[in-house]
Amino acid sequence: MKLPIYMDNHATTPVDPRVVEAMLPFFTEHFGNAASRQHRFGWIAEEAVENARKLIAGHINADAKEIVFTSGATESNNLALKGIAEAYSTKGRHLITAKTEHRSVLDVCSALELVGFRVTYLDVDECGTVSPEALRDALSGETILVSVMMANNEIGTIAPLMEIGKICLERGVLLHTDATQCFGNIPLDVKALNVHSMSISAHKIYGPKGIGALYVRGKNPRVRLVQQMDGGGHEHGMRSGTLNVPSIVGFGKAAQLAGQGHDADSVRIAGLRDLLEKRLLAAGDSHRNGHPTERLPNNLNITFPYVHADDLIVALKNDVAISSGSACSSADHEKARVSHVLSAIGLTDEAAQCTVRIGLGRFNTEEEVDYAGGKIIEALHRLRETSPQYQMIKHTKGAAVSASVH
Ligand SMILES: *Cc1c(COP(=O)(O)O)cnc(C)c1O
Repeated sequence: MKLPIYMDNHATTPVDPRVVEAMLPFFTEHFGNAASRQHRFGWIAEEAVENARKLIAGHINADAKEIVFTSGATESNNLALKGIAEAYSTKGRHLITAKTEHRSVLDVCSALELVGFRVTYLDVDECGTVSPEALRDALSGETILVSVMMANNEIGTIAPLMEIGKICLERGVLLHTDATQCFGNIPLDVKALNVHSMSISAHKIYGPKGIGALYVRGKNPRVRLVQQMDGGGHEHGMRSGTLNVPSIVGFGKAAQLAGQGHDADSVRIAGLRDLLEKRLLAAGDSHRNGHPTERLPNNLNITFPYVHADDLIVALKNDVAISSGSACSSADHEKARVSHVLSAIGLTDEAAQCTVRIGLGRFNTEEEVDYAGGKIIEALHRLRETSPQYQMIKHTKGAAVSASVH
């Protein structure tokens, strides 16, 4: 067993060696520009790109033509929201999203508000679920786009997207979803879900960083979108720039591997997660956040009252890598002392600061989960010993118990 054990797979995943192997020839041997139409170097690169496009499209029941390659889900969310808002602004200037979305959706919404769009931010319940009824009530004749993430990257809650899709279809409103955390973990079908655009990213599915895609519905209806990157007109004019061929090949391979193994592996990973969860909850005075059943198979988000998450994470640094929330917001220390997701599900700032996120993945073993569980509990006990608040609460509770006994 190699230490520290990586258990932060919501932030990123290691690249699968089979993905690396597929990518390698495209750096030095097949280095052509996929847009070069006049020679074999270009043809080989183009063929590889189109093959990857098919594999990715197949994974979400889309057509290869509906896949636009981007630099990742952040760019995909930007392209979808800004591109659709711009294209449909004559129809209306209202968007609806949820308070628990990823920053790459929320910050785009703020940017759109600055240029005259109105955005409704839906509340979620204590499990992190958006209410389809609340969405229905928020829709108006001005609404052009709804953006609801398929699964949350902190607490793992899976949205009732099927119902949301039906409402949007009824009302003739476009639906975008950020499915970055779902791709490879749970089956995805853009047609069944009735989504018009969907963001995905390779580095969350054991592919390379810096490559992602946006699914853009091509018919019934054909979604219009204003490009946010002007240039050579690549990707049907929706995203200019020379294609990152090696990464696209890697993304395709990662999607293929996810497609082959995702049922059995998701069950295995959920089993490991459940083991860990049971053990950590048994440590007492802790609670799990998110939805009891509608949740990602690899997610565990847990609050240990009176033990600051930063202290726990530091105490574990040589044994297991976990996090206190989204890596994307922790990149910006000023803005995010407390997770907006945990606030939205009703946690106090104090509880939110005592919350950790554990993200299991393809390469975690039962031995690792066992070891990590032991180390987390050990660290927890040590930190509780030195936490004046915890000791005080324990004593009050103890007093209350003995008072009721006598
Ligand atoms: C990781 C993540 C993103 C950002 O993806 P990048 O490819 O790193 O830009 C967006 N949304 C969700 C839900 C994520 O988990």
